[in-house]
Formats: sequence, structure tokens, C-alpha cells
Amino acid sequence: QSAWAGIEAAPPDPIFGVTSAFRADKDSKKVLLGVGAYRDDAGKPWVLPCVRKAEEMIQSKQYNHEYAVQSGVAEFAKLAAELAFGKDACILQHGLNLTVQSLSGTGALRLAGDFISKFYTHSKVIYVPTPTWAVHNVLFKISGLDLKHYTYYDPKTIGLDFCGMCESIRNMPERAIILFHARAHNPTGIDPSMEQWEEISNLCKERKLFVLFDMAYQGFASGDLDSDAGAVRKFVDDGQQVALCQSFSKNMGLYGERIGACTLIAQSKEEQAKLKSQMNFLIRHMYSNPPLYGARVAMHVMGDPELRCQWLEDIKTMSARIKTARQQLVDGLKKAGSQKDWAHILNQIGMFSFTGLTKEQVLKMTKEHHVYLTMNGRISVASLGSNNVEYVANAMHAVTK
Ligand code: PLP
Repeated sequence: QSAWAGIEAAPPDPIFGVTSAFRADKDSKKVLLGVGAYRDDAGKPWVLPCVRKAEEMIQSKQYNHEYAVQSGVAEFAKLAAELAFGKDACILQHGLNLTVQSLSGTGALRLAGDFISKFYTHSKVIYVPTPTWAVHNVLFKISGLDLKHYTYYDPKTIGLDFCGMCESIRNMPERAIILFHARAHNPTGIDPSMEQWEEISNLCKERKLFVLFDMAYQGFASGDLDSDAGAVRKFVDDGQQVALCQSFSKNMGLYGERIGACTLIAQSKEEQAKLKSQMNFLIRHMYSNPPLYGARVAMHVMGDPELRCQWLEDIKTMSARIKTARQQLVDGLKKAGSQKDWAHILNQIGMFSFTGLTKEQVLKMTKEHHVYLTMNGRISVASLGSNNVEYVANAMHAVTK
């Protein structure tokens, strides 16, 4: 009998499953709007010019390939923290942050999840928004936390249910853990305004919640790095001891290099040292130490003044193209004859649009029009371009009229 007798297959991944179905489709018109990866207008992956230049620099520096320490490349972590919190942030000035390099955003979430589960003694319950990125719904459970949901999205308005969200927070037990998407909420593309974040921060303080931010889209969302970090900085200014997970997948286009960072905040330098030793211990026994290449690229992009300027341009290029694609889609829907109000597609931010298509309509999009998207009606706007946007608009009109 097999050592694995009785094993069941894992549930299919809701996002990668869409890619497999797309690959199996032989129709030449097929379009993939599932995975969140930026494409240029012609539908091709885009290596950011700042990254190309950083790669040339790395090549010329002839680095060796020795192990990094558990927390990764120190200069990278320092620059990542400054990027998120702002160079002058008090917590950085006082050395209260522990920022380690992680295996991108997902790896940062896993480190944060495991660390919180082990050392945060006040609660084991983490609240995530409804809906949220599918990985959140599983990852934290694997880390050993109990998962609960808070109200976020209102299907009637295809907008934020701010009252419902506040009500949910008010009803949370004191000191519970809460996850926020820092910017460009995935899958809805709907964020609270800065005024609303202020109220949310006050409520979290009232309930003494432990706040975990997932920031996967800094700069990619609006084209402005500081503005996209606004919510995180607000909470930190309010004195909240947040945890932060950063990803450089989208804002540097470094998806496969797995580069991100995880930050915890201590109340004293002594506590910071203890956090550091426990985090290093966790990493040592999980994957020992992270890979160097992505950290080197990101470090040069953030740290070299010329490359940083180029990066600021590159993120503007990406966010502007996505805005244009949103407009093209809405124009296409009108041109196709749709009478429906599609303004939400323009108002949403980031990689995705939550179209409001029902499951039945999504199935029709795929079956009748060979357009692939996740069942919740989410499309990756970054995959729309001049060659497919009209086709997609026509398909969306056909299934919604
Ligand atoms: N968090 C959210 C909300 C995301 O959408 C993503 C990517 O899609 C991530 C985290 C992390 O991605 P990665 O592990 O590629 O950095």
C-alpha cells in the first residue's frame, strides 16, 4: 500500500485554475483576464526600464553568491521600510521597526501569520474582508489562526459598505487581529477614502485591534508611492503597532523573483531585538535565508537616485495605462450598445476591476466568448489592451444585456 494511501486532491486554486482552462482552450480569440500580472498594450510582459538598468549595474558589480543572513539583504530591508513608512517616520528614526526580506508578499504574509500565531498572546482570531484575495482565506488558517470575515463590499452599489465595515469592527472582540489591504483592494479595486481610513483607525484603536496591512500595490495603484502608503502611515502616526507585508511583484514587475518584506513594530529597542531574534529563528527553520537576486535589483532601483527617478516614471506608465484600459473598456461597452452603468470600472483602482458580472455571466463569457476570468467577476484590467478590449467589451455586453 502506498505511503500516501487515502490522500485527497487539494481544492483547485481559483486563480491558477482559470489559467489552466485558458491554456486548454484552442480558440484563437481566447482572452485571459485571470492572473494579476501587468501587460503592455500589446499584451506582453513588461520588464521595467529601471529594472533593466539595475540588472546591468548588478552585472558590472560582480557580486558573489554567498548566503544572505536570515533577514536577507539589510540595505534592501532598510530601503523597503523607508518606502513604506516614509524616510522620516519616527519608528524608523528610533529603530523600532523590524523589517526582514521575505519571499514576496505571500511569503511576508506567511511570516506575519506564523509570528502572530506564535507570539501574539491576546487573540488567535484574524478578521479579513469579504471578499478578499483567495490566499488570505487559507494562509492564515495554515499559520494556526482562526479566520473570520468583516463586511467590506456592497454588491448593490458595487462599492464600499463603509457603515457595515464600521459596524463589523465595533463588534470585534478587543485585541483581535484585523487585516486590511493597504491600497487597491483585491479583488474589488475599491478602497476607503483617507477620511474613512481615519475613522477606521480610530475604531481599531478603540477596540485595541492588532492591525496587519497587506500592501501589494504601493505605487502601482495610483502611480504615487506616498499616496498609496497613506493608510499605513496614518495608522502608524496614530501610534498603532501595525504589522506590514510588502510585495515588489507588481510595482517593480519582479513577480518571479519573489521579493518582498515583512515588518513588525516594537515599543522599545530591547523588544525590537527580541522580535528580531525570534523572526530570524522562524526563518532559519522555514527556508533558512532568502534569495539574493530580487533584493539586489530592488535595492538598486530604490537606492540609486537615477534608477529611482526612472522607477517613478515606470510606475506612472503602468498605472496610467491601466486607467486608459478602464476607459477603453467602458467606451467599448457603450459602443457595443450597453445601457448599463459601468462607472464603477472607472472608479475602481489597481490591477483589477470587480465587474459585477454574476457567476452565470462569467460562465457564459468563458463558454460562449472564450474570455477567462475568476468566478467572482474579477478581471485583470492590466491584461486589456488595444488588441482585445473591444472583443472583451462586446462579450461583456452580450452576457449582460
Ligand atoms: N496580497 C494581495 C492582496 C495580492 O493581490 C497579491 C498578489 O496578487 C499579494 C499579496 C502577493 O503577491 P506576491 O506573493 O506575488 O508578492
